[in-house]
Amino acid sequence: MTSEEILAQKLALTRKLWQKHRERLQQDARLRELLSLHQRAFQHAQEVMRQTGAEAFCARCGREGTSCCGEDMELHCDDMLLLANLLCGVSLPSKRTFPKGCFFLGEEGCLLRIRPLICRNFICPELAEFLGPEETRRLQESLEEEALALFLLGERIRSLTLKG
Ligand code: SF4
Ligand code: SF4
Repeated sequence: MTSEEILAQKLALTRKLWQKHRERLQQDARLRELLSLHQRAFQHAQEVMRQTGAEAFCARCGREGTSCCGEDMELHCDDMLLLANLLCGVSLPSKRTFPKGCFFLGEEGCLLRIRPLICRNFICPELAEFLGPEETRRLQESLEEEALALFLLGERIRSLTLKG
């Protein structure tokens, strides 16, 4: 099975689950709480990215076409993560913007509001060298809360969609 076929299957499953469980997911108070927790943690990590200079460094890399948001990275997005994005009002794309880019990469960067952990905590050797060990550690630590929120979100959505 090709990666395009795996992705198509995943998107179809996400749409099916969304159709079936949308109301239950939207009305769940604990899920709303976890989405807020995730967004606060995400903003905090973004702020640290700005302060350390990582944001500008990665943006330049993206403009030069060497970003790590490459083809097949979309396969790290499971149906729970995609459902969480639909809950946040994200419109999932119907086709790839860049032939060699991740399916979820748009003109202005990642289209997802809730992103896989691997996308968030990947620090390439060039970025690590630019940051130095102390700032690299600070950046990694800033992602801990988001990682926990992401895990809890996935578990909550899973338990709600398994109810039938
Ligand atoms: S982590 Fe490295 S490869 Fe990825 S966008 Fe940043 S600089 Fe580029
Ligand atoms: S950050 Fe977004 S666009 Fe980049 S690889 Fe991850 S999911 Fe794809």
